[in-house]
Amino acid sequence: MNTHYDLIAFGAGSGGLSAAQRAASYGARCAIIEKGRLGGTCVNVGCVPKKIMWYAADVAHTLDDAPGYGYSFGDVSFDWATIKAARDRYVQGINDWYITYLDDNQVDLIRGSARMLDAHTVEVDGKRYSADHIVLATGGEPTVPDMPGAEHGITSDGFFELEALPERVAVIGAGYIAVELAGMLNAMGSDVSLLLRKQQFLRSFDAMLRDTLMEEMLNDGVSILPRTQVRAVERRDDGSLCLMCNGAVEEIHVDTLIWAIGRTPLTADIGLDDAGVVVNADGTVPTDAFQNTNVPGIYAIGDITGRYPLTPVAIAAGRRLGDRLFNHQTDRHLTYENIASVVFSHPPIASVGLTEDEARASHGEAVKVYQTRFTPMYYSPVSHKRVTAMKLVCVGGQEKIVGCHIIGLGADEMMQGFAVAIRMGASKRDFDDTVAIHPTSAEELVTMR
Ligand SMILES: Cc1cc2nc3c(=O)[nH]c(=O)nc-3n(C[C@H](O)[C@H](O)[C@H](O)COP(=O)(O)OP(=O)(O)OC[C@H]3O[C@@H](n4cnc5c(N)ncnc54)[C@H](O)[C@@H]3O)c2cc1C
Repeated sequence: MNTHYDLIAFGAGSGGLSAAQRAASYGARCAIIEKGRLGGTCVNVGCVPKKIMWYAADVAHTLDDAPGYGYSFGDVSFDWATIKAARDRYVQGINDWYITYLDDNQVDLIRGSARMLDAHTVEVDGKRYSADHIVLATGGEPTVPDMPGAEHGITSDGFFELEALPERVAVIGAGYIAVELAGMLNAMGSDVSLLLRKQQFLRSFDAMLRDTLMEEMLNDGVSILPRTQVRAVERRDDGSLCLMCNGAVEEIHVDTLIWAIGRTPLTADIGLDDAGVVVNADGTVPTDAFQNTNVPGIYAIGDITGRYPLTPVAIAAGRRLGDRLFNHQTDRHLTYENIASVVFSHPPIASVGLTEDEARASHGEAVKVYQTRFTPMYYSPVSHKRVTAMKLVCVGGQEKIVGCHIIGLGADEMMQGFAVAIRMGASKRDFDDTVAIHPTSAEELVTMR
């Protein structure tokens, strides 16, 4: 194996794999260093296993709806072990596939923990390597608060290790991971409390989305406790957990506690000081628009940059960096605008561009909003009906669409195409001139008045 490379990536997650693969496709000699499982957070403890559990929860909702469509069946049971085993097999398949992928792309895989000794030298478990370009893509880990008994809780990583569906769960947090875990566990049969430090969850999302989701989750039986903070956690003799709280309640008794309060960048132990790389107080690594850190030849991509912590963002930044460094595309970089995202709640949320509040703050009176709320046809024979709500945020005389927000059945699959149109600068008129697909929910987006 070489010890000098054109490019070394720290971390075989979404960002590192993409940067190394793209660079190698132009003939660069590349290595990637990974201390854990190939694929990083997304594949092992993020998007992939999460989406499988979301499907499992979705099946539960479909079973609830089935009698309305005339289906009847006996008692339904749910076996967590079956879906966990299938999920783990699927993830293992991706882990294995990445070995072939790196091999096929002639990227060397170095197993172990990477640390910078200086701007071009890296140490992995006592062995030294050097590179002209170093890409930092070490991602993050779930944050656990500093409080008495916090260690009795698990995080999203621990959720994927659970061997059985917990009976009573408290999920602490207000971001998309907290909301998703609470929704999935509730659908699969757990008794779920979601504790929010403030009044709302998903605070960076458009108000219409979070208000609608809050209604839906309450209707589904999730106990949402706003303005409730855990002070301490105690394990009782019967194995249950007692959460001592300030806020709506004083004590909550559960079997499982899940901390979903944020993620901490894995940048503390990778030798950034020795290499002279500037780090923010929160552990994120600042970069310019081209992913350059303050040290020439050292780049940061993905979650450690603190910008849009999403897999496709890390991938896009990594690929563009490879194009720039090894294919003479000197201006190639990721523009962090109009990045669409989905919250895999029940029903799902999809969002791109500015929220209504953001648009009003920057464009004032020039903002015009179109919105609609309806019950999708799917629910016509079903007793537990769910709502769909949509909003288009437009600006100026041309009514350029600067934001699109959807909550409802199919929102997750609906948004990708609209995101292309919005990125291309579509106006409300372009939407109006597009002939609808009928009968769908998506057609409402091109027929709004
Ligand atoms: C529960 C959950 C659900 C999510 N769902 C979605 C979703 O639906 N859609 C979406 O787009 N995003 C989702 N994300 C976010 C997504 O997983 C991340 O944005 C993405 O994985 C970031 O990629 P990355 O390359 O920056 O880091 P990572 O994928 O975290 O990869 C970093 C890698 O670096 C390795 N590493 C760290 N330090 C070292 C070291 N010193 N030496 C060697 N290796 C090291 C780690 O082991 C890891 O493999 C989710 C995240 C979580 C936690």
